[in-house]
Amino acid sequence: MRLKSLKQLDRTKLIEVELGRLPERILIDRYALDKAFKISRLVTELREESIEWYGFTIGERKRPEEVVDIGLPENERNAQQYTSINPEMILDFQDSLPGHLLINGWIHSHADLEFKRFSGTDESNNRTVLEYVSPSLKKPVAKKEIRIEDWSFLEENKYGKRDLAKGSVSLITDTKISSARLLETVFGSFCFCIVIGDNGWHEQKICYKKRGILTGDTGYECLEEAELVLFDSGRKLVESEMESLASKVRESIRPVTSPPPERLERM
Ligand SMILES: [Zn+2]
Repeated sequence: MRLKSLKQLDRTKLIEVELGRLPERILIDRYALDKAFKISRLVTELREESIEWYGFTIGERKRPEEVVDIGLPENERNAQQYTSINPEMILDFQDSLPGHLLINGWIHSHADLEFKRFSGTDESNNRTVLEYVSPSLKKPVAKKEIRIEDWSFLEENKYGKRDLAKGSVSLITDTKISSARLLETVFGSFCFCIVIGDNGWHEQKICYKKRGILTGDTGYECLEEAELVLFDSGRKLVESEMESLASKVRESIRPVTSPPPERLERM
């Protein structure tokens, strides 16, 4: 529909136009998912006990909506920090990545626990990672009208202080106008959240953040039980990589000396 003038628009209805969509399923390279379960097996082998660990899901900047790898940061030994991810940890890990890669979510293991869903602690980590990744993953998802009840239209070089005192919003233009509508861009971002268990189960969700650039109106929501869709890039965990993964696990994941709060939370 083409509009000849603004006056043709229904003034009572605010304009909202969708500009883009955020991912509604998690596309993951088989290589990355295999690697996650491999890390769990290595942890059990090396530590002779099943312990929980966490890592980041990695995407390419040019295709941020796909998981191409799993990154394993140094997991904190301290029981309190073990299950809580803080922005410094995420920042340090992002800095260690090559420039063409970014963090697009996080993955963690519940090891051999029977708790096959996200805990309260996990939910706060979901939010922490979402807040961190949102600047690098954000894209325009909508244009949304802001209702201005009390415009003040002014012309360039033809107004004074008293004119600026009028109206709730002043619009200064180079020509005389009598009506206007103001639309802000709403930026959206996402974070993939995956939890896995030793016997092969996995559960995942996608958390979203949307924010209006002018109003700052911010909304959060999550797609629960999001579908995990495997694709095959052909990349395989080769022998040499298995060795470096094993030493990475050895240096990054150490057993906690007291039960993590999450384990207590589930009792
Ligand atoms: Zn958890």
